[in-house]
Amino acid sequence: MGIIFLWMNELKFKTMMCLICGWMYDEEQGAPDEGLAPGTRWEDVPMNWTCPECGARKDDFEMVEI
Ligand SMILES: [Zn+2]
Repeated sequence: MGIIFLWMNELKFKTMMCLICGWMYDEEQGAPDEGLAPGTRWEDVPMNWTCPECGARKDDFEMVEI
């Protein structure tokens, strides 16, 4: 049970929210305008990527449950 739960969680797409301006990044949809293809995992987003709205860094984003 525990292992299956972890596995399901691993497959689930995450949504990250910018804590500064509230801009959301949905892994499933990506951000094509920002050069992130749909399905791009948050951990695969480049470290030097910044929020398109306010310029915050990845460190300023937090995972949210929709
Ligand atoms: Zn922002």
